[in-house]
Amino acid sequence: MGDLNSEWQAELARAYNSAESLAAALQLPQSWVTSHHSARKLFPIRVPRPFAELIEAGNPDDPLLLQVAPHAHEHAQRDGFSTDPLGEADATATSGVLHKYGSRVLVILRGGCAVNCRYCFRRHFPYDEHKFGQAECEQALNYIQLHPEINEVILSGGDPLMAKDRQLETILTAFAALPQIRRIRIHTRLPVVIPQRLTTELKTLLMGVGVPVIMVLHINHARELGQRLADTLSQWNNVGITWLNQSVLLKGVNDSAETLCELSERLFEVGILPYYLHQLDRVQGAAHFAVEDAQAILIMQEVTARLPGFLVPKFVREIHGEASKTPINLQR
Ligand SMILES: *Cc1c(COP(=O)(O)O)cnc(C)c1O
Ligand code: SF4
Repeated sequence: MGDLNSEWQAELARAYNSAESLAAALQLPQSWVTSHHSARKLFPIRVPRPFAELIEAGNPDDPLLLQVAPHAHEHAQRDGFSTDPLGEADATATSGVLHKYGSRVLVILRGGCAVNCRYCFRRHFPYDEHKFGQAECEQALNYIQLHPEINEVILSGGDPLMAKDRQLETILTAFAALPQIRRIRIHTRLPVVIPQRLTTELKTLLMGVGVPVIMVLHINHARELGQRLADTLSQWNNVGITWLNQSVLLKGVNDSAETLCELSERLFEVGILPYYLHQLDRVQGAAHFAVEDAQAILIMQEVTARLPGFLVPKFVREIHGEASKTPINLQR
């Protein structure tokens, strides 16, 4: 039977990591490579093949491609776009642990992701300083015990599912064993770009954690929900895991009511509810993805008019120092 983790790890290892290889796979011309590859130095290219297969060949404006293709615009320095837009450096409680919101802590389990999204607010995050080994885990457990108001642990990253199952199991069971912890959340994009990450072993592991598990995927466009992910999710029905989705509002990718409605409908079809739609965090190198608030509000007004309430994601932005994500008022 072999190593059951090996399929997703093999996909990780053979992800496209250059504009040239991506262009060859997607039948994009040499001119595309020339105009796109310089930004690779700012943030490396990383696109797993199962995700690349969902991109329409020959279309440089494909909404999935735009999320992962480096662009010369990333060199632009724009006022108000910084390398640490959320002030995360200030919110570090212990190594790898961010405590910004009273009842939940965010644990940066792993630096690095299976895919490098060009708009990522953590593209400048000092992951090298954030390894999360046994010592860090013990510090985190101590910190949580000293803060009884914490009742939820959120594994984030990077992508926490980059960790091997054994490490995940150790950490999840350690957190879940604290009596104050009522649930555990995992924020991940990995199953979207490599659906094979959702192995039977992972399912069994998550069912045995001891507290309810919530999986929050990160999907921005209905076409990211391919057949393989849909089929896999259907095997994860009724195992007691809650599935939510968060998206980022991105110019050229999902900045229309039509696209966002279709995303919500498609999410529901496969058993996921929309949770958040984030207004872009103002991270240096991502200004070309920004949708102005006035425009965004018009889009969300239309989404709200067209969908049942439970399919409308909460439209929020993150403001440094606030006690929660801040809802963006649609009534103007
Ligand atoms: C977004 C975020 C959370 C989770 O917020 P919810 O509103 O509970 O989804 C927790 N901690 C940090 C540091 C965050 O950025
Ligand atoms: S998967 Fe998430 S954390 Fe990783 S690069 Fe994409 S947006 Fe950033």
